[in-house]
Amino acid sequence: MNTSVKNKIDLTKIVELNALLNKNRIHTVCVSARCPNKSECFGKKTVTFLILGDVCTRHCRFCSVKKESAPTRLDNEEPGRIAEFVKELGLEHVVITSVTRDDLADGGASQFAKTIQAVRANVPTAIIEVLAPDFQLDQQALNKVLTARPDIINHNVETVPRLYSVVRPEADYQRSLKVLEYCKQKSQKTITKSGFMLGLGEEEKEVVAVLQDLRKINCDVVVLGQYFQPTKSNMPVERYLSREEFKKYEKIAQDMGFLAVASGPTMRSSYLAKELYKKIKS
Ligand code: SF4
Repeated sequence: MNTSVKNKIDLTKIVELNALLNKNRIHTVCVSARCPNKSECFGKKTVTFLILGDVCTRHCRFCSVKKESAPTRLDNEEPGRIAEFVKELGLEHVVITSVTRDDLADGGASQFAKTIQAVRANVPTAIIEVLAPDFQLDQQALNKVLTARPDIINHNVETVPRLYSVVRPEADYQRSLKVLEYCKQKSQKTITKSGFMLGLGEEEKEVVAVLQDLRKINCDVVVLGQYFQPTKSNMPVERYLSREEFKKYEKIAQDMGFLAVASGPTMRSSYLAKELYKKIKS
């Protein structure tokens, strides 16, 4: 098959998937965060669901998701629509993330639990991965998510601690580590995963220190990717790392004993998530 025909087929799939998402009123982080891998993932019918609306209560400077002080009303039918969509598309590996909803009493944890349960009821064999916010380290909220038994719980630290005040002003590095630590302690069987971006001004020793911090709390999987500025109003890229540098960090992380490591310019925590999970289980 020549390349132009192949591209045409992929484009059709992308258009179809976009239409299906709009028709079902389902948000994805792929669209909202302007992910660089969108065409590739949509072409393979891979999406990361964005629940709790598409408006975030925090103001992370790397992220292009809409930010407003009055987020959307909680949509009680969202879990059911996502579960139907998963079935219709025949997804085997389902990644669910959300905007941060500091305005909700449980941070939206109940909606995570309901979505996991609805997907599992509709497609019992699906592997379910959640990419959760920090829920302000509210253990009751985290328990709600863990009780719904996701196979993987991911919480991204996003950057090195020194850059938090600029990159994620309302977040806290230690709090994020504690979220991951709590999840592992509470549910040993659940795979814990985290990721962070490179190219924001971090130094090598800081990258290694974050990897060490994650390993110390028994985080199983780590993902490192290049930061790309999604819109002009987001923070600029400080530096583009070479593939060799990503390879070097991959080796450092592997030597630390993570179960799986993904490191490369276009790596995102939900990119090739199914393949990474299979690698762990093989
Ligand atoms: S890498 Fe993740 S967020 Fe990006 S397009 Fe693929 S599934 Fe969506």
